[in-house]
Amino acid sequence: MSSQAWINLAYLVASMLFIVAFKLMTGPRTAVRGNYLGAAGMAIALLAACFEPSVQETLAARGAWPLVLVALAAVVGAAIGATMAIRYPMTGMPQMVALLNGFGGAASTLVAGAELWNATATAREAASPLPAWTQFAIATALTGLIGAVTFWGSLVAFGKLEELPQFKKAWTDPNRHWINLGLGLGTLLLLWGVCANPSSNLLFWALVIVGSVLGCTLTMPIGGADMPVVICLLNSYSGLAAAAAGFVIDNSVLVIAGSLVGASGLILTAIMCQAMNRSLVGVLFGGLGTTTAANADDVYAGKVKSASAEEIAMVLEGADRVVIVPGYGLAVAQAQHAVRELANALEKRGTTVEYAIHPVAGRMPGHMNVLLAEADIPYEKLREMDDINPTFPETDVAIVIGANDVVNPAARTDPKSPIAGMPILDVDKARTVVVVKRSLSPGFAGIPNPLFAADNTLMYFADGKKAILDLTSALEKG
Ligand code: NDP
Repeated sequence: MSSQAWINLAYLVASMLFIVAFKLMTGPRTAVRGNYLGAAGMAIALLAACFEPSVQETLAARGAWPLVLVALAAVVGAAIGATMAIRYPMTGMPQMVALLNGFGGAASTLVAGAELWNATATAREAASPLPAWTQFAIATALTGLIGAVTFWGSLVAFGKLEELPQFKKAWTDPNRHWINLGLGLGTLLLLWGVCANPSSNLLFWALVIVGSVLGCTLTMPIGGADMPVVICLLNSYSGLAAAAAGFVIDNSVLVIAGSLVGASGLILTAIMCQAMNRSLVGVLFGGLGTTTAANADDVYAGKVKSASAEEIAMVLEGADRVVIVPGYGLAVAQAQHAVRELANALEKRGTTVEYAIHPVAGRMPGHMNVLLAEADIPYEKLREMDDINPTFPETDVAIVIGANDVVNPAARTDPKSPIAGMPILDVDKARTVVVVKRSLSPGFAGIPNPLFAADNTLMYFADGKKAILDLTSALEKG
Protein backbone atom coordinates (compact mmCIF):
# COMPACT_ATOMS: atom_id res chain seq x y z
CA MET A 1 0.00 0.00 0.00
CA SER A 2 1.35 3.49 -0.87
CA SER A 3 2.05 6.00 1.91
CA GLN A 4 -0.85 8.19 0.65
CA ALA A 5 -3.19 5.18 1.01
CA TRP A 6 -2.04 4.75 4.64
CA ILE A 7 -2.65 8.44 5.30
CA ASN A 8 -6.15 8.19 3.79
CA LEU A 9 -6.87 5.10 5.86
CA ALA A 10 -5.79 6.95 9.02
CA TYR A 11 -8.09 9.86 8.06
CA LEU A 12 -10.94 7.41 7.54
CA VAL A 13 -10.39 5.85 10.97
CA ALA A 14 -10.21 9.33 12.54
CA SER A 15 -13.45 10.38 10.80
CA MET A 16 -15.20 7.22 12.00
CA LEU A 17 -14.00 7.89 15.55
CA PHE A 18 -15.43 11.44 15.32
CA ILE A 19 -18.82 10.12 14.20
CA VAL A 20 -18.96 7.45 16.94
CA ALA A 21 -17.79 10.08 19.46
CA PHE A 22 -20.69 12.36 18.46
CA LYS A 23 -23.12 9.50 18.90
CA LEU A 24 -21.76 8.69 22.37
CA MET A 25 -21.91 12.35 23.40
CA THR A 26 -25.70 12.33 23.03
CA GLY A 27 -26.09 10.52 26.38
CA PRO A 28 -24.69 11.63 29.75
CA ARG A 29 -23.51 8.12 30.61
CA THR A 30 -21.49 7.64 27.43
CA ALA A 31 -20.37 11.26 26.92
CA VAL A 32 -16.98 10.88 28.63
CA ARG A 33 -16.13 7.85 26.48
CA GLY A 34 -17.24 9.85 23.44
CA ASN A 35 -14.86 12.64 24.41
CA TYR A 36 -11.92 10.22 24.67
CA LEU A 37 -12.73 8.66 21.30
CA GLY A 38 -12.95 12.11 19.70
CA ALA A 39 -9.56 13.04 21.18
CA ALA A 40 -8.07 9.76 19.92
CA GLY A 41 -9.46 10.50 16.44
CA MET A 42 -7.87 13.97 16.54
CA ALA A 43 -4.49 12.50 17.60
CA ILE A 44 -4.59 10.01 14.70
CA ALA A 45 -5.52 12.78 12.24
CA LEU A 46 -2.68 15.03 13.49
CA LEU A 47 -0.13 12.23 13.24
CA ALA A 48 -1.28 11.29 9.74
CA ALA A 49 -1.06 14.94 8.64
CA CYS A 50 2.66 14.93 9.53
CA PHE A 51 3.21 12.31 6.80
CA GLU A 52 1.41 14.33 4.08
CA PRO A 53 3.66 14.72 0.97
CA SER A 54 3.61 18.52 1.26
CA VAL A 55 4.85 18.29 4.87
CA GLN A 56 7.53 15.76 3.91
CA GLU A 57 8.67 18.01 1.02
CA THR A 58 9.02 20.94 3.41
CA LEU A 59 10.98 18.81 5.85
CA ALA A 60 13.28 17.61 3.04
CA ALA A 61 13.87 21.20 1.87
CA ARG A 62 14.24 22.94 5.24
CA GLY A 63 15.25 20.23 7.68
CA ALA A 64 13.32 19.30 10.83
CA TRP A 65 12.86 22.91 12.05
CA PRO A 66 9.30 23.41 10.76
CA LEU A 67 8.24 20.22 12.57
CA VAL A 68 9.98 21.34 15.75
CA LEU A 69 8.11 24.66 15.53
CA VAL A 70 4.77 22.85 15.01
CA ALA A 71 5.52 20.54 17.97
CA LEU A 72 6.45 23.54 20.12
CA ALA A 73 3.23 25.34 19.16
CA ALA A 74 1.23 22.18 19.93
CA VAL A 75 2.88 21.79 23.35
CA VAL A 76 2.34 25.46 24.27
CA GLY A 77 -1.27 25.35 22.97
CA ALA A 78 -2.02 22.11 24.82
CA ALA A 79 -0.52 23.52 28.04
CA ILE A 80 -2.65 26.69 27.79
CA GLY A 81 -5.78 24.65 26.92
CA ALA A 82 -5.24 22.14 29.75
CA THR A 83 -4.56 24.90 32.30
CA MET A 84 -7.70 26.77 31.25
CA ALA A 85 -9.83 23.61 31.34
CA ILE A 86 -8.56 22.67 34.81
CA ARG A 87 -8.65 26.14 36.34
CA TYR A 88 -11.88 27.46 34.86
CA PRO A 89 -14.82 26.79 37.20
CA MET A 90 -17.76 24.75 35.90
CA THR A 91 -19.83 27.95 35.83
CA GLY A 92 -17.29 29.47 33.43
CA MET A 93 -17.56 26.65 30.87
CA PRO A 94 -19.89 28.61 28.52
CA GLN A 95 -17.34 31.44 28.34
CA MET A 96 -14.62 28.90 27.68
CA VAL A 97 -16.70 27.28 24.92
CA ALA A 98 -17.18 30.76 23.40
CA LEU A 99 -13.39 31.27 23.42
CA LEU A 100 -12.78 27.82 21.92
CA ASN A 101 -15.25 28.54 19.12
CA GLY A 102 -13.50 31.84 18.50
CA PHE A 103 -10.02 30.32 18.43
CA GLY A 104 -11.27 27.66 15.98
CA GLY A 105 -12.45 30.45 13.67
CA ALA A 106 -9.19 32.39 14.04
CA ALA A 107 -7.10 29.27 13.31
CA SER A 108 -9.08 28.60 10.12
CA THR A 109 -8.63 32.19 8.94
CA LEU A 110 -4.87 32.05 9.59
CA VAL A 111 -4.55 28.72 7.73
CA ALA A 112 -6.36 30.23 4.73
CA GLY A 113 -4.23 33.39 4.90
CA ALA A 114 -0.98 31.38 5.08
CA GLU A 115 -2.01 29.12 2.18
CA LEU A 116 -2.92 32.13 0.07
CA TRP A 117 0.43 33.76 0.89
CA ASN A 118 2.28 30.60 -0.22
CA ALA A 119 0.18 30.16 -3.34
CA THR A 120 0.60 33.78 -4.45
CA ALA A 121 4.37 33.61 -3.85
CA THR A 122 4.61 30.46 -6.00
CA ALA A 123 2.40 32.05 -8.67
CA ARG A 124 4.59 35.16 -8.69
CA GLU A 125 7.72 33.02 -9.21
CA ALA A 126 6.00 31.27 -12.11
CA ALA A 127 4.81 34.67 -13.39
CA SER A 128 1.23 33.43 -13.80
CA PRO A 129 -1.61 34.72 -11.58
CA LEU A 130 -3.77 32.29 -9.58
CA PRO A 131 -6.84 31.26 -11.60
CA ALA A 132 -10.18 32.82 -10.57
CA TRP A 133 -13.23 30.98 -9.16
CA THR A 134 -11.39 27.74 -8.36
CA GLN A 135 -12.12 25.57 -5.30
CA PHE A 136 -9.01 27.11 -3.69
CA ALA A 137 -10.11 30.70 -4.33
CA ILE A 138 -13.71 30.21 -3.15
CA ALA A 139 -12.74 28.15 -0.08
CA THR A 140 -10.03 30.65 0.91
CA ALA A 141 -12.45 33.58 0.70
CA LEU A 142 -15.16 31.73 2.67
CA THR A 143 -12.71 30.54 5.34
CA GLY A 144 -11.35 34.07 5.84
CA LEU A 145 -14.83 35.53 6.19
CA ILE A 146 -16.51 32.86 8.36
CA GLY A 147 -13.43 32.51 10.56
CA ALA A 148 -13.22 36.25 11.18
CA VAL A 149 -16.95 36.57 11.96
CA THR A 150 -16.64 33.59 14.34
CA PHE A 151 -13.57 34.91 16.15
CA TRP A 152 -14.85 38.41 16.84
CA GLY A 153 -18.45 37.32 17.40
CA SER A 154 -17.22 34.78 19.94
CA LEU A 155 -15.10 37.38 21.75
CA VAL A 156 -18.18 39.61 22.11
CA ALA A 157 -20.21 36.57 23.28
CA PHE A 158 -17.44 35.85 25.81
CA GLY A 159 -17.73 39.40 27.14
CA LYS A 160 -21.51 39.08 27.45
CA LEU A 161 -21.35 35.69 29.20
CA GLU A 162 -18.61 36.95 31.52
CA GLU A 163 -21.04 39.84 32.19
CA LEU A 164 -18.27 42.39 31.56
CA PRO A 165 -19.78 45.87 32.07
CA GLN A 166 -18.81 46.98 28.53
CA PHE A 167 -20.81 44.12 26.97
CA LYS A 168 -23.63 43.66 29.47
CA LYS A 169 -26.00 46.04 27.73
CA ALA A 170 -27.18 45.09 24.26
CA TRP A 171 -26.23 47.55 21.49
CA THR A 172 -29.53 49.13 20.52
CA ASP A 173 -28.46 51.91 18.14
CA PRO A 174 -31.45 52.42 15.81
CA ASN A 175 -29.06 52.50 12.81
CA ARG A 176 -27.53 49.10 13.60
CA HIS A 177 -29.54 47.29 10.89
CA TRP A 178 -28.26 49.74 8.28
CA ILE A 179 -24.70 49.40 9.58
CA ASN A 180 -24.97 45.60 9.42
CA LEU A 181 -26.53 45.78 5.97
CA GLY A 182 -23.66 47.98 4.75
CA LEU A 183 -21.05 45.66 6.26
CA GLY A 184 -22.88 42.61 4.83
CA LEU A 185 -22.85 44.12 1.33
CA GLY A 186 -19.19 45.06 1.80
CA THR A 187 -18.26 41.46 2.67
CA LEU A 188 -20.19 40.13 -0.35
CA LEU A 189 -18.32 42.53 -2.63
CA LEU A 190 -14.93 41.58 -1.14
CA LEU A 191 -15.87 37.88 -1.23
CA TRP A 192 -16.53 38.24 -4.95
CA GLY A 193 -13.26 40.17 -5.30
CA VAL A 194 -11.15 37.44 -3.66
CA CYS A 195 -12.80 34.69 -5.75
CA ALA A 196 -12.28 36.67 -8.96
CA ASN A 197 -8.75 37.81 -8.13
CA PRO A 198 -7.21 35.35 -5.63
CA SER A 199 -3.71 36.66 -6.26
CA SER A 200 -4.47 39.72 -4.10
CA ASN A 201 -3.56 39.13 -0.47
CA LEU A 202 -4.75 42.68 0.19
CA LEU A 203 -8.33 41.89 -0.84
CA PHE A 204 -8.28 38.78 1.37
CA TRP A 205 -7.19 40.71 4.47
CA ALA A 206 -9.67 43.50 3.69
CA LEU A 207 -12.37 40.80 3.68
CA VAL A 208 -11.09 39.51 7.02
CA ILE A 209 -11.17 43.01 8.55
CA VAL A 210 -14.71 43.80 7.35
CA GLY A 211 -15.83 40.29 8.46
CA SER A 212 -14.31 40.97 11.89
CA VAL A 213 -16.30 44.18 12.30
CA LEU A 214 -19.44 42.37 11.10
CA GLY A 215 -18.83 39.60 13.70
CA CYS A 216 -18.86 42.25 16.43
CA THR A 217 -21.83 44.26 15.16
CA LEU A 218 -23.95 41.14 14.60
CA THR A 219 -23.38 39.87 18.14
CA MET A 220 -23.43 43.16 20.08
CA PRO A 221 -27.23 43.78 19.78
CA ILE A 222 -28.08 40.30 21.06
CA GLY A 223 -28.62 39.93 24.76
CA GLY A 224 -31.10 38.89 27.37
CA ALA A 225 -32.36 35.39 26.93
CA ASP A 226 -31.25 35.05 23.29
CA MET A 227 -27.58 34.29 24.01
CA PRO A 228 -27.98 30.46 23.91
CA VAL A 229 -28.97 30.70 20.24
CA VAL A 230 -25.93 32.84 19.44
CA ILE A 231 -23.53 30.46 21.20
CA CYS A 232 -24.87 27.52 19.18
CA LEU A 233 -24.70 29.53 15.96
CA LEU A 234 -21.09 30.61 16.57
CA ASN A 235 -20.24 26.99 17.37
CA SER A 236 -21.69 26.04 14.02
CA TYR A 237 -19.76 28.83 12.25
CA SER A 238 -16.47 27.58 13.74
CA GLY A 239 -17.22 24.15 12.23
CA LEU A 240 -18.09 25.67 8.86
CA ALA A 241 -14.85 27.70 8.89
CA ALA A 242 -12.87 24.52 9.61
CA ALA A 243 -14.69 22.62 6.84
CA ALA A 244 -13.94 25.45 4.38
CA ALA A 245 -10.27 25.40 5.52
CA GLY A 246 -10.30 21.66 4.74
CA PHE A 247 -11.13 22.55 1.11
CA VAL A 248 -8.33 25.15 1.08
CA ILE A 249 -5.67 22.61 2.04
CA ASP A 250 -7.46 19.62 0.44
CA ASN A 251 -7.70 17.73 3.70
CA SER A 252 -10.65 15.33 3.89
CA VAL A 253 -10.59 14.78 7.66
CA LEU A 254 -10.79 18.53 8.29
CA VAL A 255 -13.76 18.78 5.92
CA ILE A 256 -15.52 15.92 7.73
CA ALA A 257 -14.75 17.13 11.28
CA GLY A 258 -15.73 20.71 10.37
CA SER A 259 -18.96 19.58 8.71
CA LEU A 260 -19.90 17.52 11.78
CA VAL A 261 -19.40 20.53 14.07
CA GLY A 262 -21.15 22.84 11.60
CA ALA A 263 -24.17 20.55 11.19
CA SER A 264 -24.53 19.71 14.88
CA GLY A 265 -24.25 23.41 15.76
CA LEU A 266 -27.00 24.24 13.27
CA ILE A 267 -29.24 21.49 14.68
CA LEU A 268 -28.62 22.82 18.21
CA THR A 269 -29.39 26.36 16.99
CA ALA A 270 -32.74 25.13 15.63
CA ILE A 271 -33.50 23.30 18.91
CA MET A 272 -32.63 26.42 20.94
CA CYS A 273 -34.77 28.67 18.71
CA GLN A 274 -37.66 26.27 19.18
CA ALA A 275 -37.08 26.12 22.95
CA MET A 276 -37.13 29.92 23.15
CA ASN A 277 -40.00 30.29 20.70
CA ARG A 278 -37.82 32.57 18.54
CA SER A 279 -37.02 32.58 14.85
CA LEU A 280 -33.36 32.74 13.93
CA VAL A 281 -33.96 35.92 11.92
CA GLY A 282 -35.78 37.36 14.93
CA VAL A 283 -32.79 36.66 17.20
CA LEU A 284 -30.21 38.00 14.77
CA PHE A 285 -32.06 41.08 13.60
CA GLY A 286 -34.80 41.42 16.25
CA GLY A 287 -35.96 44.79 17.56
CA LEU A 288 -34.34 44.59 20.97
CA GLY A 289 -34.69 48.33 21.43
CA THR A 290 -38.46 48.09 21.62
CA THR A 291 -38.57 45.96 24.78
CA THR A 292 -38.81 47.40 28.28
CA ALA A 293 -38.50 45.66 31.62
CA ALA A 294 -40.94 46.34 34.46
CA ASN A 295 -39.67 48.33 37.45
CA ALA A 296 -38.42 46.09 40.30
CA ASP A 297 -40.05 48.24 43.02
CA ASP A 298 -43.46 48.02 41.32
CA VAL A 299 -43.14 44.25 41.11
CA TYR A 300 -41.82 43.49 44.61
CA ALA A 301 -42.77 46.31 47.03
CA GLY A 302 -44.54 44.85 50.08
CA LYS A 303 -45.38 41.56 48.35
CA VAL A 304 -42.34 39.32 48.93
CA LYS A 305 -42.60 36.73 51.74
CA SER A 306 -39.45 35.09 53.04
CA ALA A 307 -39.36 31.93 55.16
CA SER A 308 -36.87 30.04 57.33
CA ALA A 309 -35.56 26.50 56.75
CA GLU A 310 -37.82 25.18 59.53
CA GLU A 311 -40.95 26.79 58.04
CA ILE A 312 -40.18 25.37 54.59
CA ALA A 313 -39.39 21.94 56.08
CA MET A 314 -42.89 21.94 57.60
CA VAL A 315 -44.41 22.61 54.17
CA LEU A 316 -42.29 19.82 52.67
CA GLU A 317 -43.32 17.35 55.39
CA GLY A 318 -46.91 17.44 54.11
CA ALA A 319 -45.96 17.17 50.41
CA ASP A 320 -46.72 14.10 48.30
CA ARG A 321 -45.07 15.45 45.17
CA VAL A 322 -42.11 17.83 44.95
CA VAL A 323 -40.52 19.17 41.76
CA ILE A 324 -37.01 20.57 41.95
CA VAL A 325 -36.20 23.29 39.38
CA PRO A 326 -32.47 23.88 38.95
CA GLY A 327 -31.02 27.02 37.35
CA TYR A 328 -27.73 28.81 36.89
CA GLY A 329 -27.47 29.59 40.64
CA LEU A 330 -27.32 25.84 41.37
CA ALA A 331 -24.16 25.69 39.27
CA VAL A 332 -22.71 28.76 41.01
CA ALA A 333 -23.44 27.30 44.44
CA GLN A 334 -22.31 23.80 43.36
CA ALA A 335 -25.38 22.54 45.20
CA GLN A 336 -26.01 19.43 43.08
CA HIS A 337 -24.83 16.94 45.75
CA ALA A 338 -26.82 18.76 48.45
CA VAL A 339 -29.89 18.57 46.17
CA ARG A 340 -29.43 14.82 45.86
CA GLU A 341 -29.36 14.54 49.70
CA LEU A 342 -32.54 16.61 50.00
CA ALA A 343 -34.27 14.40 47.42
CA ASN A 344 -33.13 11.27 49.33
CA ALA A 345 -34.54 12.69 52.58
CA LEU A 346 -37.85 13.48 50.89
CA GLU A 347 -38.08 10.10 49.17
CA LYS A 348 -37.43 8.36 52.48
CA ARG A 349 -40.63 10.01 53.72
CA GLY A 350 -42.56 8.69 50.71
CA THR A 351 -42.55 11.93 48.69
CA THR A 352 -42.23 11.70 44.91
CA VAL A 353 -39.38 13.89 43.67
CA GLU A 354 -38.76 14.92 40.07
CA TYR A 355 -36.59 17.53 38.35
CA ALA A 356 -37.83 20.05 35.79
CA ILE A 357 -35.26 20.88 33.12
CA HIS A 358 -35.62 24.01 31.00
CA PRO A 359 -33.64 23.82 27.73
CA VAL A 360 -31.81 27.11 28.37
CA ALA A 361 -31.38 26.87 32.16
CA GLY A 362 -27.81 27.66 33.18
CA ARG A 363 -25.34 29.08 30.72
CA MET A 364 -24.88 26.31 28.14
CA PRO A 365 -27.06 23.70 26.46
CA GLY A 366 -27.41 20.67 28.73
CA HIS A 367 -25.85 22.55 31.70
CA MET A 368 -28.38 21.25 34.24
CA ASN A 369 -28.24 17.68 32.91
CA VAL A 370 -24.46 17.66 33.34
CA LEU A 371 -24.65 19.08 36.87
CA LEU A 372 -27.30 16.66 38.08
CA ALA A 373 -25.58 13.69 36.44
CA GLU A 374 -22.43 14.66 38.37
CA ALA A 375 -24.41 14.03 41.59
CA ASP A 376 -25.67 10.66 40.25
CA ILE A 377 -29.26 11.85 40.10
CA PRO A 378 -31.09 9.20 38.05
CA TYR A 379 -31.59 10.41 34.49
CA GLU A 380 -35.18 9.09 34.40
CA LYS A 381 -36.15 11.66 37.04
CA LEU A 382 -35.12 14.57 34.82
CA ARG A 383 -38.19 15.74 32.91
CA GLU A 384 -38.21 18.16 30.04
CA MET A 385 -40.30 21.33 30.03
CA ASP A 386 -43.15 20.19 27.78
CA ASP A 387 -43.41 16.95 29.69
CA ILE A 388 -43.47 18.39 33.22
CA ASN A 389 -45.42 21.62 32.70
CA PRO A 390 -48.89 19.98 32.73
CA THR A 391 -48.04 18.37 36.10
CA PHE A 392 -47.37 21.59 38.05
CA PRO A 393 -51.03 22.11 39.13
CA GLU A 394 -50.79 18.68 40.87
CA THR A 395 -47.43 19.52 42.46
CA ASP A 396 -47.45 20.29 46.18
CA VAL A 397 -44.12 22.11 46.28
CA ALA A 398 -41.88 23.37 43.48
CA ILE A 399 -38.38 24.17 44.81
CA VAL A 400 -36.65 26.63 42.50
CA ILE A 401 -32.89 26.64 43.15
CA GLY A 402 -30.96 29.46 41.51
CA ALA A 403 -33.33 29.65 38.53
CA ASN A 404 -34.84 32.97 37.56
CA ASP A 405 -35.47 33.76 33.86
CA VAL A 406 -36.65 30.22 33.08
CA VAL A 407 -39.46 30.49 35.66
CA ASN A 408 -40.37 34.14 35.03
CA PRO A 409 -44.14 34.42 34.30
CA ALA A 410 -43.49 37.81 32.64
CA ALA A 411 -42.60 35.75 29.54
CA ARG A 412 -46.28 34.77 29.38
CA THR A 413 -47.93 37.94 30.64
CA ASP A 414 -45.82 40.95 29.60
CA PRO A 415 -45.56 41.39 25.80
CA LYS A 416 -42.97 44.17 26.30
CA SER A 417 -40.62 41.99 28.34
CA PRO A 418 -37.32 41.04 26.66
CA ILE A 419 -38.23 37.39 27.30
CA ALA A 420 -41.83 37.73 26.01
CA GLY A 421 -42.95 34.56 24.26
CA MET A 422 -40.18 32.38 25.68
CA PRO A 423 -41.72 29.17 27.04
CA ILE A 424 -41.08 28.88 30.78
CA LEU A 425 -41.46 26.23 33.46
CA ASP A 426 -44.94 26.88 34.90
CA VAL A 427 -43.84 26.62 38.55
CA ASP A 428 -46.25 29.41 39.53
CA LYS A 429 -49.06 26.87 39.02
CA ALA A 430 -47.74 24.61 41.82
CA ARG A 431 -49.55 24.79 45.18
CA THR A 432 -46.48 26.25 46.91
CA VAL A 433 -43.32 27.60 45.33
CA VAL A 434 -40.08 27.83 47.30
CA VAL A 435 -37.44 30.01 45.64
CA VAL A 436 -33.86 29.64 46.85
CA LYS A 437 -31.55 32.52 45.89
CA ARG A 438 -29.41 35.06 47.68
CA SER A 439 -31.36 38.25 46.94
CA LEU A 440 -33.96 39.73 44.62
CA SER A 441 -31.26 40.33 41.96
CA PRO A 442 -32.33 39.62 38.39
CA GLY A 443 -31.07 36.71 36.27
CA PHE A 444 -29.23 36.85 32.94
CA ALA A 445 -32.01 38.79 31.17
CA GLY A 446 -31.77 41.54 33.83
CA ILE A 447 -35.49 41.82 34.59
CA PRO A 448 -37.61 41.49 37.76
CA ASN A 449 -39.56 38.29 38.30
CA PRO A 450 -43.22 38.53 39.48
CA LEU A 451 -42.98 34.90 40.68
CA PHE A 452 -41.03 36.13 43.74
CA ALA A 453 -44.00 38.31 44.74
CA ALA A 454 -46.72 35.73 44.05
CA ASP A 455 -49.14 34.70 46.84
CA ASN A 456 -48.04 31.06 46.73
CA THR A 457 -44.28 31.82 46.76
CA LEU A 458 -41.94 31.61 49.75
CA MET A 459 -38.47 33.09 49.27
CA TYR A 460 -35.52 31.51 51.00
CA PHE A 461 -32.64 33.99 50.76
CA ALA A 462 -29.33 32.13 51.04
CA ASP A 463 -26.54 30.58 49.01
CA GLY A 464 -28.02 27.59 47.17
CA LYS A 465 -25.83 24.91 48.76
CA LYS A 466 -26.14 26.19 52.32
CA ALA A 467 -29.90 26.63 51.92
CA ILE A 468 -30.43 23.08 50.70
CA LEU A 469 -28.19 21.57 53.41
CA ASP A 470 -30.10 23.55 56.07
CA LEU A 471 -33.44 22.46 54.59
CA THR A 472 -32.39 18.81 54.60
CA SER A 473 -31.25 18.93 58.21
CA ALA A 474 -34.48 20.75 59.25
CA LEU A 475 -36.49 18.06 57.44
CA GLU A 476 -34.55 15.24 59.09
CA LYS A 477 -34.99 16.81 62.53
CA GLY A 478 -38.73 17.29 61.98
P1 NDP B 1 -30.73 33.15 35.60
O1 NDP B 1 -29.46 33.67 35.07
O2 NDP B 1 -31.99 33.71 35.10
O3 NDP B 1 -30.76 33.35 37.21
C1 NDP B 1 -29.81 32.77 38.02
C2 NDP B 1 -30.13 33.15 39.45
O4 NDP B 1 -29.26 32.40 40.28
C3 NDP B 1 -29.87 34.60 39.75
O5 NDP B 1 -31.09 35.31 39.85
C4 NDP B 1 -29.09 34.59 41.08
O6 NDP B 1 -29.78 35.35 42.06
C5 NDP B 1 -29.09 33.12 41.47
N1 NDP B 1 -27.83 32.72 42.07
C6 NDP B 1 -26.58 33.02 41.67
N2 NDP B 1 -25.70 32.49 42.51
C7 NDP B 1 -26.39 31.82 43.44
C8 NDP B 1 -26.02 31.05 44.58
N3 NDP B 1 -24.74 30.89 44.95
N4 NDP B 1 -27.00 30.50 45.32
C9 NDP B 1 -28.29 30.67 45.00
N5 NDP B 1 -28.70 31.38 43.93
C10 NDP B 1 -27.75 31.94 43.17
O7 NDP B 1 -30.69 31.57 35.46
P2 NDP B 1 -31.70 30.59 34.69
O8 NDP B 1 -31.02 29.26 34.74
O9 NDP B 1 -33.07 30.72 35.25
O10 NDP B 1 -31.76 31.14 33.22
C11 NDP B 1 -30.66 31.06 32.34
C12 NDP B 1 -30.48 32.38 31.63
O11 NDP B 1 -29.21 32.39 30.99
C13 NDP B 1 -31.53 32.58 30.55
O12 NDP B 1 -31.83 33.94 30.41
C14 NDP B 1 -30.79 32.07 29.30
O13 NDP B 1 -31.30 32.62 28.11
C15 NDP B 1 -29.39 32.59 29.58
N6 NDP B 1 -28.36 31.85 28.86
C16 NDP B 1 -28.43 30.49 28.73
C17 NDP B 1 -27.50 29.80 28.00
C18 NDP B 1 -27.66 28.33 27.77
O14 NDP B 1 -27.16 27.82 26.77
N7 NDP B 1 -28.32 27.62 28.68
C19 NDP B 1 -26.33 30.50 27.38
C20 NDP B 1 -26.30 31.92 27.65
C21 NDP B 1 -27.28 32.55 28.37
P3 NDP B 1 -29.01 35.94 43.33
O15 NDP B 1 -27.85 36.71 42.82
O16 NDP B 1 -30.05 36.77 44.02
O17 NDP B 1 -28.59 34.77 44.18
